[in-house]
Amino acid sequence: MGIFQNVVLRTLKRKIRELSGEKMPFIAGHKLLYSCNLRCSMCPFWRREDGKLLTLEEERKMMDSLVDLGVSYMGFEGGEPFLRRDLPEILRLSHSRFHTSLVTNGWMLKEKLNSVKDYLDYLFVSLDGVGETHDRLRGVRGSFSKAREGIEAASKVIPVSINSTITSENSSEAGMIVDLAEQLNVHVSFQIAYNYSAAEKMSPSAVTLKETIMKLLEMKKHGAPIVDSREYFESILSSWYNGVGWKCKPWLTINIDPQGRAVLPCYVLNEYTGSEKVWETDLRKTWNSMDWKVYENCNRCALSCYLEPSLFSWRNPGMVKERIIDNIASYVKI
Ligand code: SF4
Ligand code: SF4
Repeated sequence: MGIFQNVVLRTLKRKIRELSGEKMPFIAGHKLLYSCNLRCSMCPFWRREDGKLLTLEEERKMMDSLVDLGVSYMGFEGGEPFLRRDLPEILRLSHSRFHTSLVTNGWMLKEKLNSVKDYLDYLFVSLDGVGETHDRLRGVRGSFSKAREGIEAASKVIPVSINSTITSENSSEAGMIVDLAEQLNVHVSFQIAYNYSAAEKMSPSAVTLKETIMKLLEMKKHGAPIVDSREYFESILSSWYNGVGWKCKPWLTINIDPQGRAVLPCYVLNEYTGSEKVWETDLRKTWNSMDWKVYENCNRCALSCYLEPSLFSWRNPGMVKERIIDNIASYVKI
């Protein structure tokens, strides 16, 4: 049975369980390692020790547990995933089970593209500015041109999105990043910098962030290739500026650290110190013994991996088109 049918069947199974009140994640994010070749000032991860990473067999066990749980989308990140020599094998295992995406800083992308291109449904390449701004924020000269070369090569064979974090240092370049995405014929997705305790505090000021979000919303309305939903930007404005919060559902996303442990309730509140390895625990039981209600009104971060699924509604035709129909179309194309 093809991956598309598998994902549809898993989604139906999860929906049936949800009818009886169970909570199940359908998106997984997995940090393959913390090590990175770049040194972004707002990033807490490259500062951490990796510890013993999962073997390929452990990665497979982890993925099988996630299939049982009903996960349909798997996103790999780091650190820099291309630093793992077994990345192609890990992606191959994932691609036969899930819709598979990867976040990379793009440094090694052009050189390693052929080894991963057949196992990826979507690729995110992080860019935090154009030219010198990106190099300064990433802490390594030449990182912009390497990422750009990688995007140009990858976008010929895989759907690609630029992934950009809005900080106090680059908010004025958000429009330039959208222009760059248009020029390179790729999408662009934005995150708002979160002030982790273990990294430089770089969230934009309230006034600057509001202006930047309004500008991006306007560009999206005029057809700019911005992946974030209109509701994503509008929810941030409503909550952080008008006191009308969104209902956070962190249980829809499971994050797994480099040791294979689920990070609960979400990686912002936990800042990545997981507990048990996912294949050695009863995830359904863990998920349904959590008191998720206490996080509903948190509204502390605007990480799209949590906020976008929290906002999704079958009653919103625009979201159903962007998130479901366009995704099905991409499977059918494959
Ligand atoms: S490229 Fe990514 S993982 Fe590496 S330091 Fe920057 S934000 Fe962190
Ligand atoms: S708003 Fe962010 S920090 Fe708060 S529970 Fe949701 S995902 Fe976690």
